[in-house]
Amino acid sequence: MSFKLAIVGRPNVGKSTLFNRLVGKRLALVDDQPGVTRDLREGEARLGDLRFTVIDTAGLEEATDDSLQGRMRQLTERAVGMADACLFVIDARAGVLSADEIFADILRRKSARVILAANKAEGQAADAGVMEAYSLGLGEPLRLSAEHGEGMAELYAVLAPLI
Ligand code: GDP
Ligand code: MG
Repeated sequence: MSFKLAIVGRPNVGKSTLFNRLVGKRLALVDDQPGVTRDLREGEARLGDLRFTVIDTAGLEEATDDSLQGRMRQLTERAVGMADACLFVIDARAGVLSADEIFADILRRKSARVILAANKAEGQAADAGVMEAYSLGLGEPLRLSAEHGEGMAELYAVLAPLI
């Protein structure tokens, strides 16, 4: 059975961009289609010689402000329940927001393995946000740029022993 990695985090941190980078262009659907409900998407990821299943929690983008918290919790718990490990993504340019702290709480309680990633980390504008990520209490953040493909070797190094 394939190892499953769930990519979780609040909307707009770059989850789908990372999913697309790992899965390839065939399934490319970065969020530019408002109103399309996708909830959870699965794809077969390739990272160097690693092969695994990746789950994108894509359904959050359609939620209204009122429904977002409950929906975040429900979708994240579903994804965590299916996965062997979670990649929890924050936006290093935005820093740690209260929504990120809610995710951190859910993950601390529900997931055996959490890998913390500070995305959009290309350039110095992200340095402060990467430092803030330590405050989530989930260990050292991986510095990623899903859009530019930076940090993939570091992601490989963290995943390889698990798969
Ligand atoms: P999701 O809502 O978490 O799935 O986020 P998306 O993958 O849809 O990305 C949200 C926005 O962030 C898009 O405009 C992406 O182009 C942008 N984005 C994603 N990754 C990066 C990155 O590494 N650096 C920068 N600067 N922008 C990024
Ligand atoms: Mg998305």
